[in-house]
Amino acid sequence: MSADSTQYVGRFAPSPSGPLHFGSLVCALASFLDAKKNNGLWLLRIEDIDPPREDPKHVDTILNQLEHHGLHWNGPILFQSQRTTSYARALDELHRQHLTYACTCSRKRLGPMSGVYDGHCRARTATSEPHAVRLTLAKSSEQTIAVDDLIMGDYRQNLHREVGDFVLRRKDGLYSYQLASVIDDQFQGITRVVRGYDLLNSSPRQRYLQRCLNYPSLEYAHVPIAVDQKGHKLSKQTKAQALKNRLAPINLWNALDWLGQKPPKTLLKAPVMQLLEWAMRHWVLQQVSNRPARPAQQDHDYEL
Ligand SMILES: [Zn+2]
Repeated sequence: MSADSTQYVGRFAPSPSGPLHFGSLVCALASFLDAKKNNGLWLLRIEDIDPPREDPKHVDTILNQLEHHGLHWNGPILFQSQRTTSYARALDELHRQHLTYACTCSRKRLGPMSGVYDGHCRARTATSEPHAVRLTLAKSSEQTIAVDDLIMGDYRQNLHREVGDFVLRRKDGLYSYQLASVIDDQFQGITRVVRGYDLLNSSPRQRYLQRCLNYPSLEYAHVPIAVDQKGHKLSKQTKAQALKNRLAPINLWNALDWLGQKPPKTLLKAPVMQLLEWAMRHWVLQQVSNRPARPAQQDHDYEL
């Protein structure tokens, strides 16, 4: 399946750090419906480039969960673990533009900076020590980068003040999420990214990297984060329940409700395809809440 230059191409990009839970379902469903409503393609990418945090066995579980929930993707699945040659090539390209440098800073040194790197290693020449590779932010990045998010509205970040020169390849040799994500969005021809609010603050960095690599900009839409009763993001760490395939219809109904789509109660026991057909026809992105986080339904609502 290939896309022409004007076609909407969306994607869902889970990492195999655990099975899908309600919080991942709302992101998958939102990106799926937004692509379908716009006659677009919906691609699947497995972000498996951080082996210490992942387990390949979750890939099959995730694919199985998506299929049971009627979320069928277009084309082949892209595995980031098979894309390292492309990441290395992009890094070389940035290096040729003098936009990268080796950073040997220890965790101890980086710790007190609370995420905003001070550019300490900028002046360093080549090193044989283990090092991370950072992007040299240009003077122009002192200007605020604005992302007009389709759900959250105007979002701005000053990369110099709020991030600093950021990591493209980690000291352990693994490529950063920011680099891999930007390269693969370009490779897959993605035109609009619909994903969770926790990644909104990555968007300016990604837009900046796109510019450095002469890639076109994408549209972004960030949906709220599903949180538990204590306000913690649903995740493996907070012991979020894995989606149960046998409850796919009610999971989908709850996800639609959570996304502000107001599914009729009469569809509460409808089969998956009927629910999705209704949802594709009625999807309105602007009905998704623009609050950063929303409580997920109580466990007993969707985990009977
Ligand atoms: Zn450094």
